[in-house]
This record gives sequence, C-alpha cells and structure tokens, in this order.
Amino acid sequence: MGHPLIKKSAKAALANLPDYRQCYDEFDRACPSGPQLTGLPDGGLNMCFEALDRHLNRPVADKLAIRWISKHDQVTDYSYRALCQLTSRFASILPALGLPTGARIFSLLGRQPELYIAALGTLKAGCVFTPLFSAFGPEPIRSRMEIGEAQLLLTTLSLYRKKVKPWRNTLPSLKAVIVIDGDPGSEPGCYCLAELMQQANPDFPCVATQPEDMALLHFTSGTTGKPKGVIHVHQAVEYHQLSAYWALDLKPSDIYWCTADPGWVTGTSYGIIAPLCLGVTMIIDEAEFDTERWYRLLQQQQVTVWYTAPTAIRMLMKAGPDIRNQYDLSALRFIASVGEPLNPEAVIWGQTVLSVPFHDNWWQTETGGIMIANFASQDIKPGSMGRPLPGIEAVILSQNESGPSEVITTPMQVGELALRPGWPSMFRGYLHQEEKYQRSFAHGWYLSGDLAMQDEDGYFWFVGRKDDLIKSSGHLIGPFEVESALMEHEAVAEVGVIGKPDPVAGEIVKAFVTLKPGFTPDEALQKTLLGFARQRLGAAVAPKEIVFRRNLPKTRSGKIMRRLLKARELGLPEGDISTLESDEQ
Ligand code: ATP
Ligand code: MG
Repeated sequence: MGHPLIKKSAKAALANLPDYRQCYDEFDRACPSGPQLTGLPDGGLNMCFEALDRHLNRPVADKLAIRWISKHDQVTDYSYRALCQLTSRFASILPALGLPTGARIFSLLGRQPELYIAALGTLKAGCVFTPLFSAFGPEPIRSRMEIGEAQLLLTTLSLYRKKVKPWRNTLPSLKAVIVIDGDPGSEPGCYCLAELMQQANPDFPCVATQPEDMALLHFTSGTTGKPKGVIHVHQAVEYHQLSAYWALDLKPSDIYWCTADPGWVTGTSYGIIAPLCLGVTMIIDEAEFDTERWYRLLQQQQVTVWYTAPTAIRMLMKAGPDIRNQYDLSALRFIASVGEPLNPEAVIWGQTVLSVPFHDNWWQTETGGIMIANFASQDIKPGSMGRPLPGIEAVILSQNESGPSEVITTPMQVGELALRPGWPSMFRGYLHQEEKYQRSFAHGWYLSGDLAMQDEDGYFWFVGRKDDLIKSSGHLIGPFEVESALMEHEAVAEVGVIGKPDPVAGEIVKAFVTLKPGFTPDEALQKTLLGFARQRLGAAVAPKEIVFRRNLPKTRSGKIMRRLLKARELGLPEGDISTLESDEQ
C-alpha cells in the first residue's frame, strides 16, 4: 500500500520501534484498490500534502472541500484549491515569524475556518499542531501549552485577554500570539491574522517532512485522570484515510459531517485529515449541540455520512421521534458513533427512527485511528464495538496479580483489550512521560486500559475501563452492562454506574440516572427502576442504589466521568477536572 518511498523511509526510521512492515503488507493484501498515498514529488510524506496539495492535479481540485456554517447560519464555502492556497499562506507565516520546522503551534478556537486552515497550514510548514478546546479555563490551557512547549498560539482577542494574557509571561517558550478577529493593537508579540495572511505566500510548497516526523500532539480526554500528551507522526495519514474508507465507508461522492471538535482526536483524524484525503465534501458546524439544529443541518446539507458520539445520540433519543419526523433525512446512508460505549438501544433507535443503524467503533487518542468497527459491509451486532480493521490484531488478555498475561481464546471471557503494535497511526509516545509509555506495552502488546470480551464471531464487546470495574460479592461487573440495561427503561435518558464500597459485598453497584422529559424523579420511580434492573440483570449484578440527577458529569468530549461520581461518593479529592463540562446535580 502507498508509495514505495514512504514504506522504505518509514521502515528505516522505525528500525528501533515495533515492526510496522507486516502491517503494510496486510494493507496491501486487504485493500489493493483502496485509496493510495501519493508522497511528495521529491520524497517525504506530509499529512497536508495528502489532504490537499496532491488533489490539485485532479478533478477534485475545484470541488467543495469544506462548507462552514456559523452559529448564526452564515455559510462559507472552500474548494480544495482555495484551502490549499490559504493553508500555504498560513504555512508561510510561520518561518516569517521565526518559527522553524518542528515548532509547536497551538490553537484555542471554536470550530472556525481559521482553526482548520491553521491545522493544515502548520502541517504544511512541517510544524506540530495541537488544538485546544476553546472552553478550557486558563489553567488547563496554560498547563497543556507548558507541557507541549508551545511557541505560537492562534486564538481570538477575547479568549486571549481572558484566558492567556494573565499568565503569558510565565511561558517563555511562547514567542507569538496570532488573533483571528481584529487588531491586537499595541499588545506585544501579538499579531493580526488577516494582516499576516495578506502579505503571505499563496504558493508556499509543502515541507518535505519524513513519515516519522512529529505532526500532531493531542491531549487525551482526561476521563480516567490527568490528560496525557499523545504524539502522532505524519505516517499516521496512511491509516487515517484507509480506516475512514473502511470503517466510515467514505467515498468521494459523500457529504460528510463529523460532529467532534478538533480539540479531541476524532475531530482531527476524521474531522480534518481523513475526509480531505478521500476528496469528500465536509460540513463543519460552529454551533454546539441542539436537537432541532442538528436535524435541520442533516436535511439542509443532504448529509450522507455522519460520525457522532453516544452522548449526542442519547440526547436525540431523549427529545423523542416527533421532532425527527419533521425532517427529511433520506440522504443519510451511513452513520457511526465513537467515544463511549453505544448502548444496543441506541443502535436500534437509529434503525427505527433514522432508518439507518448506528455503526459503533472503538479507538483511542493513542491509536490515532479506528481499530475496531462495525463495518458497512458486515452485520452489526447491537452493543458490540465490531471487529478489528484489516491489519489490526486485537486480543483479550487475561489478568493475574502482576498484570496482563495470556491471550484468552475462550469466547466471552473478560480481560484487557490489547493490540499488536505496528499500525501507522499508532502513537509514538506520551510527551515527557517515557516511563508511562513503556508501561503501556507488555508481552509484545499495546494495553488499552479497557476491558472487553470477544465472541465466537470475532466481535468485541466493551465491558468498562479497567479503573471502573466493580467487584461485588465475588462478581466482576462492568458498568456498561448495567447502564445498558437501565437504558432500556422508557424513563431513562442516561446512566452512570460506579462501585460503592460496602462492608459486606466489597462494593455494591450504584447508578446515577437522568430522566427523559415527563418523568418525575420520585421514590416510586426509584423502586420501579431497581426492580426493572434486578429483573434484567439478576440480583448479583443489578444496582442496589439508584439516585436521580439532572445531569451527569462529563468530559468536554462527551464521556461520563465515573471516577468523579465515585470520588464524590467517597468524599475523596476530585482529581484533574480540567476537561469537565456539564455537572448539574
Ligand atoms: P484519558 O485517557 O485521559 O482517561 P480517554 O481515555 O477518555 O481519557 P480518549 O482517548 O479520548 O481519552 O478516549 C478513548 C477511550 O474512550 C477508550 O479507551 C474507551 O474507554 C472509550 N471509547 C472510545 N470508543 C468507544 C466505544 N466505541 N465503546 C466503548 N468505549 C469507547
Ligand atoms: Mg485513555
């Protein structure tokens, strides 16, 4: 697969790393007619070249690459050619500001066009891009920029004044700040993007980065603890486009909407790089989730492939089918979900209410791309994450006292989900945490930290995070199973389950439940739900306690923070909550 030069240089660069060759050979066999990488004409590999520049000699050059829809419904269109020129301009700004290749460029922006132009322009210039979620507070921004040794920040004037200016002098690596909206005036080291872009070079050529050069630094969601800075290299692009082709069924004729923010890896791998590599038209919505708006956009923009997350799907379910019925969603042909376990209820709801089922898929910031998926071409098993993509070897490892040990071959046995290292988008390290990186490998496997099972057909079933596993009277209980059972009740909108210490059982299962509109959080409903769960799960696994909440604590990438529910239950310190979003009791 891919350009022979790329393979060669990747192999050389990877002499001391896990063997990637086998993986490429498998890609060759699995996808001989699949999307090919081009590589730079004079050697080297650059993500931006694959996403944009190489299309200039193809009919796709003048096709719509990005349609951006502002919060106030203003629409701006960018063709592949226009994006290529704008990213060249941005790329040329960086050396002009004294930033060499490899410099770390951060963005602190909402889903505005400048974010996408900067991401691709940074890669084009051979620099490293890190998008930060714009709703972060000053401290999470500062600490991530410090860890990442940020040299340039792209943001808005108001975000700069509120969240960066107060501590800017404490970060000596930060050479410059560019603001996208207006004139920073006499602010030292601050530049106006529009001015810089005007003087910039629209023909700046892509820098010939090598496959193993660092391209992206992404912070994890912080669901289980302090977010880690994950390193990805230009080589990852090979897997980005292949996996989108396989697992998201993306074809050049598609109109594609990935709802993730580029502050999280999904929003970069599948919200910027992969769709552009594959020449599709991408919709970007600046606004946050809103049921009616989302249905309206799906209809108006004739979205064909849609990639979203369980938290949004559950909100659509909560709003009920009547709203959906006001919209024509007949263009939708493929929908997929990632980020959290997708309850079987939600997959079926997709089929009955949207007329297409959700395809769940599993991956992590560390894997850089989708590892396990319910493919377009295979049967979906609702509640399962699906099967490994071609070239990906996934297994379940048994646990003993000293950690993971053997591969479990018996179907439906719980163990740690592990992957054979070697696919192109695999992370190359946790920044400044070499030991932690090393600890995530054992016996030749990458350890995901998630517990799962595999059935006799090869499908993987998520059980829970290793940290979230509940041990009750000798039973090991995964929160997902309990949550999915409760989700089947008509009153339940969302559930988070934890293990609460108990002198007799060790732990008991406690569920935090939010309700759909029209249901009253009273004792009667509590009893009904306890009985309902007992009937579904049996007394050993069912929750012993249920409490109602208006909202569950979630990360900004939409993941339920069970560790926070637990810390509060136990009266322990809350730990790192820099990514915490909704949190109404
Ligand atoms: P941190 O590593 O900082 O605790 P995080 O693991 O949530 O945060 P991400 O890399 O954004 O950060 O998320 C990857 C994790 O999300 C996976 O390890 C898994 O626990 C969960 N996940 C992703 N997709 C799925 C899925 N389809 N089903 C179940 N869980 C999923
Ligand atoms: Mg993680």
